[in-house]
Amino acid sequence: MKKLAICPGTFDPITNGHIDIVLRSLRIFDKVIVAVAKNPRKKPLFPLDKRIELIRESLKGTGNIIIEPFDSLLVDYVSSRKGIAIVRGLRAVSDFEYELQMALLNRKLSPQIETVFMMPSEEYSFLSSTMVKEIASYGGSVEGLVPPPVEKALKEVFKRNPDV
Ligand code: ADP
Repeated sequence: MKKLAICPGTFDPITNGHIDIVLRSLRIFDKVIVAVAKNPRKKPLFPLDKRIELIRESLKGTGNIIIEPFDSLLVDYVSSRKGIAIVRGLRAVSDFEYELQMALLNRKLSPQIETVFMMPSEEYSFLSSTMVKEIASYGGSVEGLVPPPVEKALKEVFKRNPDV
């Protein structure tokens, strides 16, 4: 039986921290689905299709990865794809409380699905999509924090709408 894990997130946009976690997951699991939440309540900067396109370009050449959207209860989606685990990244203690709550709730809903936490390389442990957008919105450089296609997309968005 191939072991399939799901890395869920909003990925608005994907950062080098997300990529670090996806690549680490591939060292443990046979296949990984990067599952992109539609998440309209979070009012994403990039529409769903663009977030998926950027992940595709950023992970081009990496095998055993599927990138797809989802818009349902996470555990239902994981079961429908026959996944055995949800992988989440833990950056700092500040992530822990929310992630613990989510993991325990998901376990209550679907005891057969495990949540696995992975620590990114320390150079990414301060990195978030929110911070990246904040820096880019003021014209700062996000080189080394996000893959080149994301850097380009951020420049385009903030050039077009300096006020978003
Ligand atoms: P969500 O809206 O579900 O929090 P995100 O796209 O913000 O989605 O994050 C998806 C996952 O990636 C989460 O588990 C988050 O903790 C993790 N993550 C985000 N940034 C980093 C990073 N720099 N290093 C490690 N994990 C990260």
